[in-house]
Amino acid sequence: MSQRTEVIPALGHSYGGWVTAKAATCTAAGTQKRTCSRSSAHVETRAVAALGHNFGAWRSNGDAQVNVNGTETACCTRCTASKTREAAGSALAPAKGQTVVVGSASYKATGAATVTYAGPSNKKAASATVPAAVAISGRTYKVTAISPKAFAGNKYLKSVKIGANVKTVPASAFKGCTKLISVSFGNGITSLGKNAFYGCKALKSVTLGTKVTTIGDGAFQNCAKLTKVTVKSTKLSKVGKNAFAGCKRLGTITLKTTKLKSVGKNAFKGTKSKMTVKVPKKKLKAYQKLCKNKGSKTVRVKK
Ligand SMILES: [Zn+2]
Ligand SMILES: [Zn+2]
Repeated sequence: MSQRTEVIPALGHSYGGWVTAKAATCTAAGTQKRTCSRSSAHVETRAVAALGHNFGAWRSNGDAQVNVNGTETACCTRCTASKTREAAGSALAPAKGQTVVVGSASYKATGAATVTYAGPSNKKAASATVPAAVAISGRTYKVTAISPKAFAGNKYLKSVKIGANVKTVPASAFKGCTKLISVSFGNGITSLGKNAFYGCKALKSVTLGTKVTTIGDGAFQNCAKLTKVTVKSTKLSKVGKNAFAGCKRLGTITLKTTKLKSVGKNAFKGTKSKMTVKVPKKKLKAYQKLCKNKGSKTVRVKK
């Protein structure tokens, strides 16, 4: 008998399909394994990458406020994970009557696109601006009025600018603003209310725009430093009683109006001696009559 040794190549494993050993989750890797059909001891394993979250649609959290965008959250459909972000453009419009702080002042909503200037945030600020418009929650609101309480009695205010959409300076609005030196009137102003600038004893000169029709009773009464007043409006029809009474340095009022109908009692009482009211030439006679005996014996009406 002779023996012969023959080398037979190894069979190699005969693996079945990959099966899940440990399921992958959103955040953790899983494993798969496969087993050789010739021996259950022959096992291969491999990692399966984490799935990552499967976030659903963004849903509002209902937390938007006026001027503050709300948030929105998306939840994973597989696990408890969620993500939250600012919801662009979701800030709420102010309700009518609601007061909102914008920049250095507060504003009260009066309509879908209008607000009233309610006052400066810093009551000790030396200057204030009533803007033509403000942005609230991404929308534009015209500032069409000034609250009567916005500035009255403010002892710190030195200068104020009034925007183009304000039509009326309300009664007593700046009464007793004793440090107020300069007022820039927007050209939208049509009337100054009663006592609007009463007792503004630092106010130096005033120029009113082209739309003014009424200067209310006592509007500039007791403005002791007021030297010069110019009213550009051709439509001024009424100067109220005591309008410039007690303005002891007031020497010149320039009027462009051709519509003046009434000058109230004592309108010029206590103004500078020989105070001059300059008026359009063609109205000289009529206005001399209107201004006569209005508290000053020396008031001169000049063309
Ligand atoms: Zn095997
Ligand atoms: Zn998840």
